[in-house]
Amino acid sequence: MQTRALTREDLAALPNYVPGRSVPGAIKLASNEVPFGPLPGVVEALAEAATGINRYPDMGVAVLRDKLADRLGVAPDRVVTGCGSVAMAEHLARTTCMPGDNILYSWRSFEAYPIIAATTAAESVKVPNTPEHGHDLAAMSKAITDRTRMILVCNPNNPTGTSVRRAELDEFLDRVPEDIIVVLDEAYREFVTDPEVTDGLQTYGDRPNVVVLRTLSKAWGLAGLRVGYLVAQPEVAAAVRKVVTPFSTNSAAQAAALAALDAETEMRRRCDIIISERERVQNVLAQWFPGIPPSQANFVWLPLHDRATEFAQACETHQIIVRPFAGDGVRVTIGTPDENDAFLAAAESYLGPEP
Ligand code: PMP
Repeated sequence: MQTRALTREDLAALPNYVPGRSVPGAIKLASNEVPFGPLPGVVEALAEAATGINRYPDMGVAVLRDKLADRLGVAPDRVVTGCGSVAMAEHLARTTCMPGDNILYSWRSFEAYPIIAATTAAESVKVPNTPEHGHDLAAMSKAITDRTRMILVCNPNNPTGTSVRRAELDEFLDRVPEDIIVVLDEAYREFVTDPEVTDGLQTYGDRPNVVVLRTLSKAWGLAGLRVGYLVAQPEVAAAVRKVVTPFSTNSAAQAAALAALDAETEMRRRCDIIISERERVQNVLAQWFPGIPPSQANFVWLPLHDRATEFAQACETHQIIVRPFAGDGVRVTIGTPDENDAFLAAAESYLGPEP
């Protein structure tokens, strides 16, 4: 008798999500986290939240949603929170795609995108990055088909750090048919300094088909608690709310996020440290290795191609963990000044001039 596999057979060919590695005693520059401890008030808020964890969290996430909406200057019914912005991207795929529809994005980009597409039974349409490692928006607009339901624009792009500027994004959005959702994934928005890389919500938030994704995992330092959110038009947000896993923004995450948002001045001060370190690290690396794309995020990309894995291994012998993408490049998260010095010393021994 013909038997069916217990699980979907197409999943066997799907790569697993590979997290940045943590090695005890080593400096981790592999997951685009910030190197600082919790923002002021966060630990106290967590302790307070812990006293009520026998109860389910507020499923509507009302207080946090209202606070985010107020900060962003949008109506609360436009905000949906969830278990990290990666979950929000997945929810959007489930909200927009039926089997056989497609999700279009630049590649290489955030490695969760192909997984999200495949697990929602959508096809991935991957448009190769430009030779400068950024989005090729002209090619992306040509790749749209009548099965395209969602387009992901990762800005700045993980892992290459590149960003799309306002003029090209304006033109692209004008070309996208209005019945396709365009997701502006702005996980690294707080690290952007180029004035031409505009805030997607402020600039495009009124467009009916634009959805902006943000996270508290990066600049706000809450990666371990998993809080992300999207801002969409109310009808889109209402549809997403139907697919969100119930209670997925847990009570500790809600409390910590509220406290973190109250510490915005300190968050900005910390981001400024990361930004100035990013510029320093890029400038030093550029002396030894040309072709590093200018980063607007809290990491830099070294397009080392077939030397990527070897470089990461060389860093590891110096107790520095970076993130290789075999055959393509290495992504290095910006850490504290001391951590960056340690990384640069390791990088110099591999990339620098012969002694
Ligand atoms: N988008 C991008 C571009 C990312 O790099 C990441 C994290 N690596 C995420 C979304 C997801 O972040 P989180 O789920 O922690 O909010």
